[in-house]
Formats: sequence, structure tokens, C-alpha cells
Amino acid sequence: MIIQVRIDEEACTACGLCEETCPEVFEVNDVAVVKEDADFNAFEDEIREAADECPSEAIEVEED
Ligand code: SF4
Repeated sequence: MIIQVRIDEEACTACGLCEETCPEVFEVNDVAVVKEDADFNAFEDEIREAADECPSEAIEVEED
């Protein structure tokens, strides 16, 4: 179960890929952010996919 998702703001290049993959959880403006009310359980596969595909490896997924 995913309990936390963090963005390394120094590494993120704001490419937008994570928002394309899972707009319910990620929002990208100047930098990617995790939406405050994001439902991690409902989008586990998409979150893992976004983390795997992030070209900067800037998405950290913490699992229980
Ligand atoms: S995919 Fe990675 S580098 Fe691109 S916006 Fe998302 S966190 Fe930033």
C-alpha cells in the first residue's frame, strides 16, 4: 500500500509526464506537486508507473 509520495523538487524538470500518466495525483506547474487530497490507493498502478517513467527519478514512493 502506498502511504506517501514525494517529489524531489531539485531533480524535477517539470516535464509534465507524471501529470499525463496520473493527473488525479500529480500536478505540474513550475515543478511537480502531489495533490493534497490525492487518493493513493485508487491509483497505485498509475503512481508506480509515473515514478518508473520519471526521466529525473524525482518521484519517491513510500510503501507500507
Ligand atoms: S515526470 Fe518527473 S521530472 Fe517530469 S514533471 Fe513529473 S516529477 Fe518532474
